[in-house]
Amino acid sequence: MREWILSEINFGYVKDHPYDVAVLPMGATEPHNLHLPYGTDTFESVEVASRSCEVAFLRGARVVMLPPIPYGTETNLGAFPLAMNLNPSTLALVIGDLVASLEPHGVRKLLVLNGHGGNDFKPVLRELYGKTRVHLFLCDWFRGISADVQKQVFAEPGDHAGEMETAFGLAYFPQFVARDEKTGKLTADAGAMRPTRFDAVNRGWISITRPWHLLTTNTGAGNPHAATAEKGKEVVETIISRLADFLVELAAASLDERFPF
Ligand SMILES: [Zn+2]
Repeated sequence: MREWILSEINFGYVKDHPYDVAVLPMGATEPHNLHLPYGTDTFESVEVASRSCEVAFLRGARVVMLPPIPYGTETNLGAFPLAMNLNPSTLALVIGDLVASLEPHGVRKLLVLNGHGGNDFKPVLRELYGKTRVHLFLCDWFRGISADVQKQVFAEPGDHAGEMETAFGLAYFPQFVARDEKTGKLTADAGAMRPTRFDAVNRGWISITRPWHLLTTNTGAGNPHAATAEKGKEVVETIISRLADFLVELAAASLDERFPF
């Protein structure tokens, strides 16, 4: 039994050992080029969440990882089979309901750990602010917390099923990364992306929700072929150590009226 994983512990333990912080991993179920599994984003979120909770817990922080939500927003991947969608408004309701389940039992700090680029939870934090005594924190692990180390390690991290996600898979779930039996090469294509007809959109000045079947060939956005398990370990272990430091601080912080300042 790992005391920092809610699905593994029992009420006999929980009733005498309250928690200060909960971590909610958010994943997705979607194709990832031709070589990574549909569960990639969920596997990644659970790896980052469970390991950072472990490190923080073993340093004395009362943190617990909630079971993950394995679905994310996929409206723009709908042209591909079994990209399983939950709308942003549905996900917002799910998070709100889970927050309401924590609040009466003294868990007043929640970290939402997001692993899917199609999920956008900042509006959820804004909407719940003032309506709950639970303080919400958000980490998209593939963005700010890992941006500097991604730049050092990867030639081109990629957007979806590219070098970074493939390196993550090779390091932590290699049994689900498909390779050609003869050559040992990834069964992936090069993850090339088509530009739109608008220069301002291609430059990122104007944003759209990108129809993935027009953007990509086999859903991959970013070239995965330079990925190695070593690169994946280096980046992910950095994220875990940074998150664990934050969780230790968060668990210890007192909820006075100026929190979190
Ligand atoms: Zn992904």
